[in-house]
This record gives sequence, C-alpha cells and structure tokens, in this order.
Amino acid sequence: TVRTRIAPSPTGDPHVGTAYIALFNLCFARQHSGQFILRIEDTDRVRSTAESEQMILDSLRWLGLEWDEGPDVGGPHGPYRQSERGDIYAQYAQQLIDAGHAFKCYRTSEELDELREARKAAGMQLALKPADLALDPAEQARREQESWPYVVRMNVPSEGVCVVRDMLRGTIEVEWAQVDAQILLKSDGMPTYHLANVVDDHLMKITHVLRGEEWINSAPKHQLLYEYFGWEMPQLCHMPLLRNPDKSKLSKRKNPTSINYYRRMGFLPQAVTNYLGRMGWSMPDEREKFSLADMMAEFDIQRVSLGGPVFDLEKLTWLNGVYIREDLDDDALLLALREWAFNEEYVKQILPQVRPRVETLSQVIPLAGHFFSGLPALTEDDFDSVKLEKEELVKLLQFLVWRFEVVPAWSKEVLLAEVKVLAEHFDIKMKAFLAPVFIAITGSTSSTSVMDAMAILGSDVTRARLRSAIE
Ligand code: ATP
Ligand code: GLU
Repeated sequence: TVRTRIAPSPTGDPHVGTAYIALFNLCFARQHSGQFILRIEDTDRVRSTAESEQMILDSLRWLGLEWDEGPDVGGPHGPYRQSERGDIYAQYAQQLIDAGHAFKCYRTSEELDELREARKAAGMQLALKPADLALDPAEQARREQESWPYVVRMNVPSEGVCVVRDMLRGTIEVEWAQVDAQILLKSDGMPTYHLANVVDDHLMKITHVLRGEEWINSAPKHQLLYEYFGWEMPQLCHMPLLRNPDKSKLSKRKNPTSINYYRRMGFLPQAVTNYLGRMGWSMPDEREKFSLADMMAEFDIQRVSLGGPVFDLEKLTWLNGVYIREDLDDDALLLALREWAFNEEYVKQILPQVRPRVETLSQVIPLAGHFFSGLPALTEDDFDSVKLEKEELVKLLQFLVWRFEVVPAWSKEVLLAEVKVLAEHFDIKMKAFLAPVFIAITGSTSSTSVMDAMAILGSDVTRARLRSAIE
C-alpha cells in the first residue's frame, strides 16, 4: 500500500508551505487508497517547542488535512516524534560504523575551519570528504581514548556522478565531489535530519516522499544511506516551492506565511485548502473552485507543473469571497462567524476592555471594532497627531515587528517588556513610543488599551497591522 507523510519541524509558526505539502501527500495517498502519516521532526532540541507542534497539528486539522497515524492519534509504527526515537537512531548509526559506511570524526571546529579555508584557497570544492577529515591513526586513537567529543559522519564517494530519480523531474545528476561527509549523529548523540528522516521513512514503511524542492540536494545522501542499509528507497517527488508575487520564495517578510494569520483574518479553511490545491496543480477541467474530496478524486501527481506557483493573497481573498457567497447559507455563515470570533471565549476577553469605557451598550461595537477586523486602512494623515519624524516612526514600528517575531511567548507582560526595551534603546518616552503603535493597531487615536489589544489579537494580526502601517 501507498504510504505518504508530512514531517514538519516544530520550530515556529505553522507554515502555509507545510499545509501545501501535506495536502499533496494526503491526496496522493487517498488516490491510491493508501495512508497518510504525520511525523514530528524535532531533533533540533533548541529550536523545537511543544507550542509549535500543537499549532501545526491544530492548523492542519483546521484545514481538514487529517492523518491516519501521528503523535496524537498513535499508530503501529510509533513513536511519531523523533525526540522519542533516540535509541533507534543510535543503533542504526552504530550499524553503519560497524559496516565501514560511517566513521567517528573527532575534528574540532577550528580544524574544520582550517580545512575549509585550505580548500577555498586551493580553489577546490568546499565539500569536506572523508579523506580530508581523517586523522592519522595514532591521533584518532588518542582522541578516542581521551573521550574527545565526536560526531558520526557518513562515507561518501569522492568522484563520479550520483543519479537520483524524481517522479516529476526525471533523473537528477549530482557530482559526488559536491557532497560532503554528512554528519549523521551530532556530538550530543542526537541524529541529524538526514539519518532520522531515512531511518523513519523506512521503519514507517513510507513508499512515496513528496516534499519541497529545497530538499533536492539531500537526495543523494539519502539514496546512499538507503544503499548502505540495504533498504528500498521510497520514490521521491520534489514539489515546487511557493512564491511571492514577485516570484521570490514565499517569505514572511513579504507575505504572511503562518496559517494562524489566515485563520485570524477570517479566511475559511475550505477556501485556503482549495487555494493550496491550485498551487502548481489544476483540475482536469481547470475549474478554480473545488473541494478537498474533489481534489482527492481527481488527483494525479503528474499534473503538477514545476513553474513556481505564486501564492497571491488577492486571489485567495477573491476565492474566499466566492465560498462565502456560494457555499454558506445563513446558518453556515453564522456558524463560521462563531467559530472565528463571535464566541464566548474570544468575546469574554474583550469585555474587560470595553466595560470601563462605555455608557451604553450601543457604544461597544464601535469601540471594539478593531477586535473583529483585518488591517485598518491607514494613510500618513492618520499619524498626524504623532510627534515623530516619519523616518523615526517607521524605524520604531519596524524594530517592534522584528522584536515581536522572536518573542518566546505572546502575553501582555512579554510585549510590554519588549516595548520598554525599545523605548529605552531609542531614548523615547513610553507614551510617545506607543502613540503610533496605538494608531497602527486600533486604527484610531482613541480606543481600548493597545497593549491588551495586541495581547488579545495575537502575534499574527498584530505584526500584520504594524507592518501594514509602514508599508
Ligand atoms: P521564512 O522564509 O518565511 O522564514 P522559512 O523558509 O524560514 O520561511 P521554515 O520555518 O524553514 O520557513 O519552514 C517551515 C516549513 O515550511 C518547512 O517544512 C518548509 O519546507 C516549508 N516552507 C517554507 N517556505 C516554503 C515555500 N516557499 N514553499 C513551500 N514550503 C515552504
Ligand atoms: N523536517 C523536514 C521539514 O521541515 C522534512 C523534510 C522532508 O520531508 O524530508 O520540511
């Protein structure tokens, strides 16, 4: 049976690219009556967080991309979280060492820098090969005896051409000279992506790997690992990456990339999923609007076109409107609104913000409008009351966006601390600093508390409003 998987690393916001790749893996599996697996690749212990993992699961599920096996639903090939599979990788790394396909490398980072410098100076390929890394046997033995830290690296041929087959691209040829002696186990004993990915795809009986084209360069190493282990390699299919309208790789600097953003902005999951299905793919009759079930029924991976698909916010917004008009009757629209923001949980957060500021109930909606809207349409004039030079104002908001992108948690206290740090840094009073922030977030000069508003609105909408104020 066909088995596919999505293997996200929980190191940040749930990316639309992850949903896009998940969608194609799911459709491919369903088209062949196969199974679709979700595996968490959290071997980067520093950058991986439980919150990120939870957000990825939530947002894929919100989009209707359900998996048959995974960390939350279980399955016969678990655990489905790589951080819980450490022993497995250590065992397979040892197997490679024993067979002479991998070696312990005791080189220090200074030595590695020197080796790279030397190669650069000699105009050679920068990839470090096993022969470059080898120590003379006595030195190797000494470091081993003295328990120096080491990594495990794989052996790779130094010459010849590696030929990899791709379901969409035919054969891809890579010179072995360009492929380095990849680290498989890090000095802390954790596997790298390459080892863990290959071992897990094999043990989880994955038959087809559909993933972003950014991984093409890894394919030769993976193929070699499959050969070393004597395992059959899944078929590979490298999907074109999503692009900004200017054709550069989709990036959060130019476009919101978090699924949370689309959810908070009031997009319908079925419209987002439909739009992702149009990324490099089309229905046989070319229609733009189709359901996930339609896509599964008609799916054919060979219809994927390799030209970079453009993720265009305007087109998605248009399609979302079509769904609201054509697919939602009053009852369904009411339900969608409830799910989005008109629910107790959300509204209750807002009540303490409005209570001290209204005298009649009819003042609530005008006062709290910014909790139920997207990006306020602002012009420079709207910032007239702010006593800052325009350049200064743009700089402040830009720095705030950058700081907000990396905050470890999203709470009023954390945000306040960030604002304080920046205000001190720029030697400007808190009140003056917050004036333009207030307008950017609430769209007016008098409203509810801006710090509370940002905390309630969440990271995605807050950052988008700050960015949109300075664009
Ligand atoms: P950004 O440039 O916005 O910071 P990124 O490349 O840093 O994005 P990552 O956090 O590295 O994003 O990637 C998260 C997931 O999203 C990965 O699985 C990656 O393959 C996928 N991804 C990132 N960018 C794209 C894209 N343009 N198209 C498809 N998938 C993408
Ligand atoms: N963990 C990788 C990612 O974040 C998985 C790549 C793959 O599918 O092999 O995209």
